[in-house]
Amino acid sequence: MTIKNTLVCGAGGFIGSHMVTRLKAEGFWVRGVDLKYPEFSQSAADDFVIADLRKAPSWEEILDREFDEVYQFAADMGGAGYIFTGENDAHVMHNSAMINLHMADYGVKRGVKKVFYSSSACMYPEYNQLDPKNPKCAEETAYPAAPDSEYGWEKLFSERLYLAFLRNHGLDVRVARFHNIFGPEGTWRGGREKAPAALCRKVAEQSDVGEIELWGDGEQTRSFLYIDECLEAVRRLMNCSAFRGPVNIGSEEMVTINQMAGMIMEIAGKKLSIKHIPGPLGVRGRNSDNKLIRAELGWSPSMRLRDGLAMTYPWIEAQVRSFAKKQRSVAAAQG
Ligand code: NAD
Repeated sequence: MTIKNTLVCGAGGFIGSHMVTRLKAEGFWVRGVDLKYPEFSQSAADDFVIADLRKAPSWEEILDREFDEVYQFAADMGGAGYIFTGENDAHVMHNSAMINLHMADYGVKRGVKKVFYSSSACMYPEYNQLDPKNPKCAEETAYPAAPDSEYGWEKLFSERLYLAFLRNHGLDVRVARFHNIFGPEGTWRGGREKAPAALCRKVAEQSDVGEIELWGDGEQTRSFLYIDECLEAVRRLMNCSAFRGPVNIGSEEMVTINQMAGMIMEIAGKKLSIKHIPGPLGVRGRNSDNKLIRAELGWSPSMRLRDGLAMTYPWIEAQVRSFAKKQRSVAAAQG
């Protein structure tokens, strides 16, 4: 049997680095590419190229052989503190669109056999996500389009770009809309972290009776999918012969941010008070709608949110501890 060549774009990031590990475990030859190496562990890739995917010469370099599958995760992204303040809008749109424009073009020029594109639930219209108890995120509700962030608009543009390349140039694409993926080895500090990681960090940083700050009233709803479940769904979509998406990959276990904070405190064994402060929020309610993926791929997540958090919290707690230790030794060295 010939070994398949795969390329993972964004292999230095959270989902990309986990996908590299998964593809290696499945026996593929894997090239990773990113602006940086993974922060928290060594990449399992056979070959790792540091390159800027906004630039055409990078694509000439990395697509130097026949690739059976490309996983396109590279994007200029972050949590609410990065996406919803408005300060990074031009960067987010320009950087991510440049990456996707080159991917689609070079995918055709270099004969890539199949491309996976990671879109986001942030492309769904804000008007369907005003009621926190009843958000609508079925795939067919995407139009008339009205995402609440430029990040979401870029995702929608790039979904359409890949589907246009499929229609006009035969590029075999698969498109998924991820809903809040979390787990160990994700960004946990610095402003680009997402809600589960930010809350785990805040809880880990407190003593047993402290206080944590939450943006907004904490009654905004979301669902969160553990990383291993996301990888499984992506692999199933790639192995599917006819169904291309766009399709939601997420969990239907909707919780308020206050409820998730409660779960994390329980896991940590801490009873902390919550102080609600103003901050960037995103839509009022969001939940994955998994009817389509169940029908097409027979896939549903198998893990409860609490179980995923129980696997993530200890990792973040360890990061918090080792970071604090480093800070103390720097302070001691400075006298
Ligand atoms: P991440 O930020 O951890 O990974 C993205 C990676 O892309 C980073 O390592 C970054 O360095 C790399 N990158 C950015 N610009 C680049 C460039 N010009 N050239 C090369 N590499 C570049 O994000 P993630 O959480 O792993 O998300 C992966 C993909 O999934 C992204 O496209 C994201 O928009 C999408 N997504 C993620 C979530 C989630 O909850 N994590 C939800 C919806 C969609």
